[in-house]
Amino acid sequence: MAKWPIGVFASVDAGLGVHLDVAQELGIPTVQVHAPHQETRTPEVAAEFLGKCQAAGIAITAVFGGFEGESYADIETTARTVGLVPQDTRAARLQEMKEISDFAKLLGCDTIALHIGFVPEEGDDYSSLLDVTRDLLDHAKANGQQLNLETGQESAEHLLKFIADVDRDNLFINFDPANMILYGTGDPIEALKQVGSFVRSIHCKDGTWAADGKRGVEWGQEVALGDGDVGMETYLRTLSELGYTGPLTIEREIAEDRDRQKKDIGTAVRLLEELREKIG
Ligand code: MG
Repeated sequence: MAKWPIGVFASVDAGLGVHLDVAQELGIPTVQVHAPHQETRTPEVAAEFLGKCQAAGIAITAVFGGFEGESYADIETTARTVGLVPQDTRAARLQEMKEISDFAKLLGCDTIALHIGFVPEEGDDYSSLLDVTRDLLDHAKANGQQLNLETGQESAEHLLKFIADVDRDNLFINFDPANMILYGTGDPIEALKQVGSFVRSIHCKDGTWAADGKRGVEWGQEVALGDGDVGMETYLRTLSELGYTGPLTIEREIAEDRDRQKKDIGTAVRLLEELREKIG
């Protein structure tokens, strides 16, 4: 694959991300896919979706897990409901994530990805999260896959410590610069430099910081690519310096306004193509 193919976050049926026809219409050659709901996570659905992608010349570069009961309503709710961190749903979600790994294998995809949740500070909860993550990684490994953790819910330092403590060779990072801003967890470019050696996939997403004194408490604002505080040119230059050549996967999280979402993604494609020409 040539350096930096454009990508977009798409969905099979779960509502997050654009539908495949948008990627097709915009001529986007790669997608990351949000895994479908449990009842549609079948070999038939996988074969049909894979067939559509192949017919359109679209490569599936990662399959993202997501779960019923997750809510990104505000930062506190996100911490309470998202990923493998919440204790009461952990066992069931671990099982489900293994099924998503199996579904990704049916799609011929070697990468699963996840918002694991807000990784806790060291203690019992942290130790048990290490065990759950190793369990998932061993399952993924048997499927020939790596797991890329989405960034943003903890600092770069804490994420690096977690990865080191898990101590498996198939755990990496999906870097999302806007999340560092939206969650108020650190300067995205500095964070990228810190975790660079683990970055295997990325999101091209933009955002503006919450007001002073509210960072990490209230959401920043997700905005169209190029309109926020990430600095797309610096972001891509930093990725280039780190030797990242993988897909530039656009994520625009306004599923409630499909027309605007499509328009913004089209604009993002042009911006990334210009920057790729200039830098890549
Ligand atoms: Mg993201």
